[in-house]
Amino acid sequence: MATILRTGEATPVLNGIADGDKYHVREQPLGSKKHVRIVGIGAGASGLNMIRTLRLNLTDYDFVVYEKNADVGGTWFENRYPGCRCDVPSHSYQFSWRPRPEWTNFFSPAREIGEYLCTVCDEEGMRDSIKTRHRVTSATWDDEAGLWRLKVQNLETGEEFADSANFLVDGSGILKSVSLSLVPGAQCQQMTEI
Ligand SMILES: Cc1cc2nc3c(=O)[nH]c(=O)nc-3n(C[C@H](O)[C@H](O)[C@H](O)COP(=O)(O)OP(=O)(O)OC[C@H]3O[C@@H](n4cnc5c(N)ncnc54)[C@H](O)[C@@H]3O)c2cc1C
Repeated sequence: MATILRTGEATPVLNGIADGDKYHVREQPLGSKKHVRIVGIGAGASGLNMIRTLRLNLTDYDFVVYEKNADVGGTWFENRYPGCRCDVPSHSYQFSWRPRPEWTNFFSPAREIGEYLCTVCDEEGMRDSIKTRHRVTSATWDDEAGLWRLKVQNLETGEEFADSANFLVDGSGILKSVSLSLVPGAQCQQMTEI
């Protein structure tokens, strides 16, 4: 059954193509599967969980995660300063689908959490879906084509190339940027990188 469109309405087209006042029925059954390309940004815990979720729920798709770092892990790849650890008990701070009974501490150190994420990535065979040392430098929605237009930089060669996706999943870490603007007198320059 085709969706009926009226002139001037938005185009919630389920099984057809809007062309001005005309409506063309697609010659395919409603509910036919459509191949989609999905791009993820970031291979931290969110990116890894997304790979698993897609595998469990989708069939006709291709997928890549761009990760600017040299390895997966996100927060736990980047933060290794002395005493760095999670502040939620480790038995809660892990994938429910991948419990690890061997945590060495109630609040495990960063290195151990990073290793856990790498192990999950390896043992679940996720590496093929992840391009490390690749930074997404821009993402623009192309309304006409119904696609995300991306620019990606290979950080090893410096080469920038274009990619596109039906769906863009942002796992770039929403709490990453250091912001001291609410702390009177605090300046980022005062921080020391360890
Ligand atoms: C010291 C510390 C302790 C913490 N403890 C806890 C805790 O106990 N409990 C808790 O819930 N949370 C904790 N957090 C928060 C932690 O960041 C999140 O729990 C979680 O790790 C975030 O995972 P993520 O994958 O969403 O983001 P991230 O781990 O930040 O990963 C984002 C990834 O995206 C990549 N990326 C970003 N931009 C681009 C781009 N343009 N192109 C390509 N790649 C890109 C980054 O390189 C990174 O690998 C802690 C954070 C820190 C720093």
